[in-house]
Amino acid sequence: MRVLVVEDEALLRSALETALQAAGFLVQAAADGQEGLFAATEYPCDLAIIDLGLPRLPGLELIRQVRQLGKTFPILILTARDRWQDKVEGLQAGADDYVTKPFHVEEVLARAQALLRRASGHADPVLRCGVLAVDPRSQSVTVDGVVVELTAFEYRLLEYLIHRAGEVVSKTELTDRLYAEDAERDSNTIEVFVGRLRRKLDPAERFHPIETLRGRGYRLVKSP
Ligand code: CA
Repeated sequence: MRVLVVEDEALLRSALETALQAAGFLVQAAADGQEGLFAATEYPCDLAIIDLGLPRLPGLELIRQVRQLGKTFPILILTARDRWQDKVEGLQAGADDYVTKPFHVEEVLARAQALLRRASGHADPVLRCGVLAVDPRSQSVTVDGVVVELTAFEYRLLEYLIHRAGEVVSKTELTDRLYAEDAERDSNTIEVFVGRLRRKLDPAERFHPIETLRGRGYRLVKSP
């Protein structure tokens, strides 16, 4: 999943970036509100973490503009502990949840994962789809209760597909979600990864979890 982090304090920004990357997210970082607005407009985004005190464009204004543009991804705000008004205004502007500073990155991660889960209609922290179970907290995957070892890339691919279970996801969308802007991208490699993921999840070809829709993309079947 792609997450946008808008935070002007460099140390905090890089701490969030590191923790989110370790948790399997593809991170786009911005150091001020304008940069954040640009990133939110130009690049795909599944979740945004926005500090309210930002130079160039305040966090509240950034959230309002993002929502006015019709972007519906969940937004988690970072606020100062003693400013309860900020939380209220942030939520009113279109944010979905908040974390007060100073925070433990684990709390930000847990809230981010909960928001994504709810956005895709999963109530349980473990994302389930038929015999498949993906636990974003430990990045572990099981099929019928048996652990399957995936590479970081394969995991990200499966996590994205399970968030979108039952929907068609195009190769372009997957490429955008799985590769950073500066990375060398080739949508043909997605085919290779999907093939590998299929073999790992379903080596005996019993339940065919990922369908190919010719010319349209892939679909994780709702209850494999
Ligand atoms: Ca700040």
